[in-house]
Amino acid sequence: MTDRFTTADAAELYGVPYWSNGYFHIGKDGRLRVTLRDEEANVALLEVIDDLKQGGRALPLILRFPQILENRLTRLNDAFNEAIGKFEYQSHYQGVYPIKVNQRRVVVETIAEYGARYKTGLEAGSKAELALCLVQDTHPEALLCCNGFKDDDFIRLALWGRRLGKNVVLTLEKYSELERVLRLSREVGVRPAIGVRFKLHARGSGQWEDSGGDDAKFGLNATEVIGVVRRLQELGLIDTLIMLHCHVGSQVTDIRKIRNAVREAAQTYVELQELGARLRYLNVGGGLAVDYDGSKTTFHASANYGLQEYADTVVYEILDTCNETATPHPVVVTESGRALTAHHAVIVLPVIDAIGPTREPMALPPLPEEPHSLVGDMQELLETASIKNYREVYHDAVGNKETMHSLFDLGYLSLVERAHIEHLYNRVLAKIRRIIKDLDYVPEEFENLPRLLADKYVCNFSVFQSLPDHWAIGALFPIVPLDRLNERPTRDTTLVDISCDSDGKVSKFVDLRDVKDTLSLHELNGEPYYLGVFLTGAYQDVLANTHNLFGRVNEAHLRLTGVGSYELTRFVSGQKARRVIENMGYEAPELREWLKQDIREAQAQGSLGEEEAESVLELYSNELIGYTYLEQV
Ligand SMILES: *Cc1c(COP(=O)(O)O)cnc(C)c1O
Repeated sequence: MTDRFTTADAAELYGVPYWSNGYFHIGKDGRLRVTLRDEEANVALLEVIDDLKQGGRALPLILRFPQILENRLTRLNDAFNEAIGKFEYQSHYQGVYPIKVNQRRVVVETIAEYGARYKTGLEAGSKAELALCLVQDTHPEALLCCNGFKDDDFIRLALWGRRLGKNVVLTLEKYSELERVLRLSREVGVRPAIGVRFKLHARGSGQWEDSGGDDAKFGLNATEVIGVVRRLQELGLIDTLIMLHCHVGSQVTDIRKIRNAVREAAQTYVELQELGARLRYLNVGGGLAVDYDGSKTTFHASANYGLQEYADTVVYEILDTCNETATPHPVVVTESGRALTAHHAVIVLPVIDAIGPTREPMALPPLPEEPHSLVGDMQELLETASIKNYREVYHDAVGNKETMHSLFDLGYLSLVERAHIEHLYNRVLAKIRRIIKDLDYVPEEFENLPRLLADKYVCNFSVFQSLPDHWAIGALFPIVPLDRLNERPTRDTTLVDISCDSDGKVSKFVDLRDVKDTLSLHELNGEPYYLGVFLTGAYQDVLANTHNLFGRVNEAHLRLTGVGSYELTRFVSGQKARRVIENMGYEAPELREWLKQDIREAQAQGSLGEEEAESVLELYSNELIGYTYLEQV
């Protein structure tokens, strides 16, 4: 039995094999590596960061791996093709990527271009998104679905898209959109291709349960869907209705919910065909979940199924439902966004400082000759705390600390004595934390202790910009140091960002069995220490906000070319301060003018010299064109 900490221990501790889907692993040297094609191409993220820093690139930054996007597309299509072969399904699969999940250029372009071999389509939920989707290099048969509420111009643009040879489908989200679509297609002179979103009774599970169900925001109910079929029959346009669409919400954690939803959708498809519709596509929407904590459960950060089980379930339920009535099998469409994009992006955060109650303080000031007796009382508690009496010791320590505050407020205790008592108190708690670590049962009042005593590792980033879903809805992401993974981490930590908002923190972490309140990290040793936040490629990039005026971060696009080798294909600079400031309605030249006025006034009063005036102006101007994150730390 040795007490050595190995990379296998680190893999367990951070759950890397469970959530990484094979895209990340820990190398023998204790460095986290990104991997493609069964190890043929992999590189240590730390080396990438070092290279980027050598090239003058500032952190925090996002590393993007378009090859992972490509691999996700391949795996998704392979899974559906396998299901189709296995069940002898009599049609094919065609995925659609809903770009709202991440509209970044490299993401959309990679999916459109690489996805052309699978006829992968795109889904737009607004006019601006449609403008992006229309001009991508997709396969001519790829679907271009227009979801969301629409005005005339949205519909017009979609219809013109058909005239330009794109397979654009207008999904009706509410009944009144039908007449608009019909009127505008006469105007544009094109036969529309119509989809209809059906409000399923089935619901998803987890955070986005309300996207489905009878009270969902989008979709038509049974009466309205029948109304669409009848109206189109009347007009002799029934063949323009080609797609039935539904969507029960994102991150559906339970495969049974998927099965119920697909069953209901397939049954609706069959019924509509019997009413005389001639649908060709059955679109079951998004919801394919990402297992962020790797626990394979129905917890909101997980999923109790994998990609193949998802594909099998969707294909089988449609097949089984259609076969009962000998209805020809539709083209299977899914709109998986999260599962395609989450893995491709890693946010790298530098840890710039550590603060916390149990860290060795700078030398304590010497105690007075005869310190207050509370100091001695605390010292005694520290010495006598044991497994037998830790609860009494804890209660006494808390009591002493309260007394200390009262005495201090009344002037009976000096600041120096207070410093000693606080320090002793923290040491008592730390000792109790060590004692309870080995206990099978920890009384409830001690559950918070690890969190209270944890270090706060200060990271150069903003939660609001880089992990908005963690702040907004408590989404969890795996976080792992990029190096020293063959060395035992000795500090319990939570992370705080550099925004001036107490919500700017990460204090919930993924765990196989639970959610962790602290993250084990290494003691800082003077060398740069970086954390990777993984699975951040879906939604985080685009829900970001500039709270405190921290802007978009730098990003590097990388292609792996072999073992230890990679190519930096693109570097996209993050927002300059000027950009985020101007978003708030200011103009940079105007700001400079205002500063110049202040400078002139100070000079007039003789409080600022000529050279100093130039220095201030230069610093200010450089700040406007600088990165919004900390640069000299
Ligand atoms: C958001 C959305 C999706 C994407 O869902 P994921 O769970 O990210 O795959 C798909 N379809 C529609 C209609 C959506 O609104």
